[in-house]
Amino acid sequence: MTDLQSIVEEIARELEPRFGEGRVADYIPQLARVNPRQFGIAVTTVDGDMFLGGDAEVPFSIQSISKVFTLTIALGKHGESIWSRVGREPSGSAFNSIVQLERENGIPRNPFINAGAIAITDLVLAGHTPKEAIGEIVRFVRYLADEDGIVVDHEVAKSEAATGFRNHALANFMRSFGKLDHPVDHVLGVYFHQCALSMSCRQLAKAGLYLAGGGRNPTTGHRVVSHLRARRINALMLTCGHYDGSGEFAYRVGLPGKSGVGGGILAIAPGKASIAVWSPGLNDNGNSLLGSTALEMLAERTGWSIFGY
Ligand code: GLU
Repeated sequence: MTDLQSIVEEIARELEPRFGEGRVADYIPQLARVNPRQFGIAVTTVDGDMFLGGDAEVPFSIQSISKVFTLTIALGKHGESIWSRVGREPSGSAFNSIVQLERENGIPRNPFINAGAIAITDLVLAGHTPKEAIGEIVRFVRYLADEDGIVVDHEVAKSEAATGFRNHALANFMRSFGKLDHPVDHVLGVYFHQCALSMSCRQLAKAGLYLAGGGRNPTTGHRVVSHLRARRINALMLTCGHYDGSGEFAYRVGLPGKSGVGGGILAIAPGKASIAVWSPGLNDNGNSLLGSTALEMLAERTGWSIFGY
């Protein structure tokens, strides 16, 4: 176990000369002004041990990583019927592409591209006001991480709303196909708040632990989802979790993962550990450049991979 601590520290140390590489997301000021030279890593094992390196305690905007948690809520609420609203195939195009959506009659390719995540948020809204749905998402993430201090950054949510023209287009488009049940403003209001959740690597790794533990968080004992459902969420993370860089991530890292434009990545080593990395600089596919590299190093040094040993 101390081995893991030294691996995590080594990775942070070895990457230090490269801190600041990549391009920070600049579509909203709150992300554009984040110090690009930050790097954090947290590994929490199914035995309940936690290993931290770099800026693992600094909260950042989890953005699209929230899509894993809303997918879990939607599956809990509606079961497998959600798959009539959203597909399960990698998109092979940009995370916010509208072209594919038109060709496929308003059914987004998967729950992790923007259109798909917006469709999922619409399902989370069922029976709720937007405020209640946001409350449900925040409470769920706190429950997963077993931490009450996790909050939404309202400035980020406001900026997302003010600049989210393309998300408005995607949502209106789906609504025109009759594929959203709620008013576009309500759905996007919730979507922008889930993206604006602010979490540290340590909190995020803890929140993902149920996916490493066969659906059960081994440290709290909470069964969050069934074994089968955890396996399937992991499958979607592997095939669709990194936009059109998902194949590359599977090749290099070999673990299910979900990234966000804030520079975070949640990765799962099933049966072993939940891992969160963060570094704001992104690669050409919009995934954290050093975060992906750190996960590649971790997978190599621990031997963790879903494809072999
Ligand atoms: N809030 C961002 C958007 O919807 C999330 C993008 C991301 O992390 O991929 O554009």
